[in-house]
Amino acid sequence: MREFDVIVIGGGHAGIEAALASARIGARTACVTLRLDRIGHMPCNCSIGGPAKGHLAREVDALGGQMAVTTDYALTHVRVVGDGKGPAVQTLRAHACKSLYPLRMQQVMMEQPNLELLEAHVSNILTEGDSVCGVELEGGLRLAAKCVVVTAGTFLNGVCHEGMNRTLAARHGDVATSGISGFLRRIGANIRRFKTGTTPRIALASIDLDRVEIQPCAEEPAPFSFLHDAPMPRGRMYDCFATHTTEETHRIIAENIHLSAVYGKRIEGTGPRFCPSIEDKIVRFPDKTSHPVFLEREEWDGESVYVQGTSTSLPAEVQMAFLKTMPGLESVEMIRPGYAVEYDMVDPLQLEPTLQSKLCRGLFLAGQINGTSGYEEAAAQGIVAGINAALAAEGRPPLTLTRDNSFIGVLVDDLVTKGVEDPYRMLTGRSEYRLHLRHDNADMRLTPTGREVGLVNDERWNRFEDKRSRLEGHLQWLSEISFSVRDNETLENLGLAPVRKKASGFDLLKRPGVRFETVESAHAACIGNAQRDRDIGRVEAEAREQAEVLAKYDGFLKRQLAEIEQHRRLQEMQIPANFDFQSVRGLSHEAKEKLTRVRPTSVGQASRVPGIRPTDVAILIGHLRRAASPSA
Ligand SMILES: Cc1cc2nc3c(=O)[nH]c(=O)nc-3n(C[C@H](O)[C@H](O)[C@H](O)COP(=O)(O)OP(=O)(O)OC[C@H]3O[C@@H](n4cnc5c(N)ncnc54)[C@H](O)[C@@H]3O)c2cc1C
Repeated sequence: MREFDVIVIGGGHAGIEAALASARIGARTACVTLRLDRIGHMPCNCSIGGPAKGHLAREVDALGGQMAVTTDYALTHVRVVGDGKGPAVQTLRAHACKSLYPLRMQQVMMEQPNLELLEAHVSNILTEGDSVCGVELEGGLRLAAKCVVVTAGTFLNGVCHEGMNRTLAARHGDVATSGISGFLRRIGANIRRFKTGTTPRIALASIDLDRVEIQPCAEEPAPFSFLHDAPMPRGRMYDCFATHTTEETHRIIAENIHLSAVYGKRIEGTGPRFCPSIEDKIVRFPDKTSHPVFLEREEWDGESVYVQGTSTSLPAEVQMAFLKTMPGLESVEMIRPGYAVEYDMVDPLQLEPTLQSKLCRGLFLAGQINGTSGYEEAAAQGIVAGINAALAAEGRPPLTLTRDNSFIGVLVDDLVTKGVEDPYRMLTGRSEYRLHLRHDNADMRLTPTGREVGLVNDERWNRFEDKRSRLEGHLQWLSEISFSVRDNETLENLGLAPVRKKASGFDLLKRPGVRFETVESAHAACIGNAQRDRDIGRVEAEAREQAEVLAKYDGFLKRQLAEIEQHRRLQEMQIPANFDFQSVRGLSHEAKEKLTRVRPTSVGQASRVPGIRPTDVAILIGHLRRAASPSA
C-alpha cells in the first residue's frame, strides 16, 4: 500500500490550500480529487474578496497560502471596497478569469514538491481504532496516511434543482459522491442538508450596454498578495455593469414562485441567510420595488456573464422571462440557467479549533462541508486543516488561530463553538476586534506564525522583514521628530494647522487627511532641508500606509488591544480534555448541557458558547482555580 503523511480529499478551494500547506511544510502529501482539470473550479461567481472575504484571502496569503497569488495572475477586474469607510472594512474585491484561475492552480499544484495529484473517487476512509489510517478508492485500491483532510464541498449526496428538474450532481458538470457521508455517519457525525444556489449566465453580446451603468475597474489596482508589487493581469481589465430588477421582474417571480425548487418545497437543505436567492428577496422584502443586479464577465475574452444577485432555482423559462424585464437585458440570451444544489454538511461543533474531528484522530474537515459558503471561507479552513494535518503527521504541536489575531480565527471559532444554522458567510461584523484585523496588516498578524510552522518561504519572509523594519523605522522616526510653535509659520505655509504645543511627527500624522509624505515634507521644511520627490516601491508604500493607520486610529487601537489582552487571559485558561462540566456546582442545567456538548478547550471558548452567561463563566473560573490550587 502506498504511504503518505497526509491525504487531502478534494481539489476545491479548501483542498488546494490544505494540500499546498501540508506539502510546503514538508509532509508527503497526496491530493485525491475526482477530476484534475476541475482543480480550482469556481462554480459560482468569479469574485475573490469583498468585505470580510477579502480579509480572509489576505490572511491566507500572509500565512503562505495560494489564493491571493493566483488571483493576481488571473485578474479581470478589481476595485477597493469600503474605501469611503475606515480601514477596518476596506479591502479588495477582485474578479478572476474562470479558466485562468483553475489552470494556474493546477500548474502550481503539479509543480509543488512533496505533493502528488491523483484523479480518483474516494469511496471510504480507513481507520484503525479511533484514528484514521488511509483511504479506499473506488475499485478497491487503498492508500495509507497518518492524516486525512476531507474537503468534499457540495459533492456529498449533491442534488441540483432547476424548477422541476432534479439531478444527482454536485454542481453543473460534476457528479455527486456518497461514500464519505456513509463513513462520517458510521463514526457518529451529525450530518445535515444545506443548500446554495447560483445565477443564470448570459451572453455579453446580448446586453444593451447603453442601458446599464458602468462599474469601473480600479485604475491603479493594488495587488491582492503581499508577495507582489502589482497584479499581473493578462491584459486590459474589464469594467462591470450594473442594472436592477423592476416591479415587472418581481411580478413574474411572485407569480411563479411555486415553481421554484425551494418554495415548491422540493429542497430539504437550508439556504444561506446572507446570500439570498432572488426568490428569497422578493418574499422577504415585499416593499422593495427594486434590487441591484451586477453583470460580471467570467473569463478573459469569454462571452459568459454572471448575473450577480439573481441566484435562483426557478425553471429556465421563468428565469428568461424575469431577466428580460431588467434595463439592458431586454434582448438577453441565456447561456445557462441558474440552479440550486443541496448537499450533506457535517456539524462543525464536532471539530476542535484545529479542525480535527473529535470523533476520529487524524481526521480533519475543511470548507463547505463544515457548513460555510464561499471560496475564501473554504480556503481559510483549508490552510488551517492542512497545516494541522502536517503538524500532526510530524508529531508537532498544533496551530490554533484565535479571534484576536485573525478573521480565520473568528471563522473557525464561530464554527466549532457556536455551530451553524445556515451556510456561514464571513462578515466584518462577526469580529469584535475588526479595527485590529485589517486588510493592510494581515502579514504583521500572521506571517511570523506561517514562518514558525514552516509554510512561509524565504522570498515571502524577506519581503515581510523588509516591510516590518521599514514600519518600525518610520514609527521610531515619527516619535523622535517634533514640531514646536516656532514651526507654525512653516506648517501653515504647507497648509497645515499650527501646533499649540510641542507635537511629535506621530501626533501630526494623527490629523485627518495628513499623509506620511506630508509629515516628511513638513519636517524637511522645518529643518531647512529640501524635500526630494522619490519613487517608492510597494513595500515602502505599504509600510507608510500602515504607519498612517496606526497614527489615525491610535486611541481606538490601544483600547482594542487592551480588550484583546483581557480576552487572551481568558483564552489562556485551559480546560482539561476530560473535564466533567456536570460536576461544577452552581452551573445552570442549560450551561452544563451545552458545555458538555461543545467541550470547549478554554474558558475563553466556553464564554462564547451560545447561552453561556457571565455568571456561568465566573463559576467555571472559580472551580478551575480551586481545582488547580495545591490545597485542593
Ligand atoms: C451551485 C453553487 C452555487 C454557489 N453559490 C455560492 C454563492 O452564492 N456564494 C458563495 O459564497 N459560495 C457559493 N458557492 C460555494 C462555493 O463554490 C464553495 O463555497 C466553494 O467552492 C467551497 O470550496 P470547497 O473546497 O469546500 O469545495 P468544492 O469547491 O466544492 O470542492 C470539492 C472538491 O472535492 C472533490 N471531491 C468530492 N468528493 C470526492 C470524493 N469522494 N473523492 C475525491 N474527490 C472528491 C471534488 O472533486 C472537488 O474538487 C456555490 C457553490 C455551488 C456549487
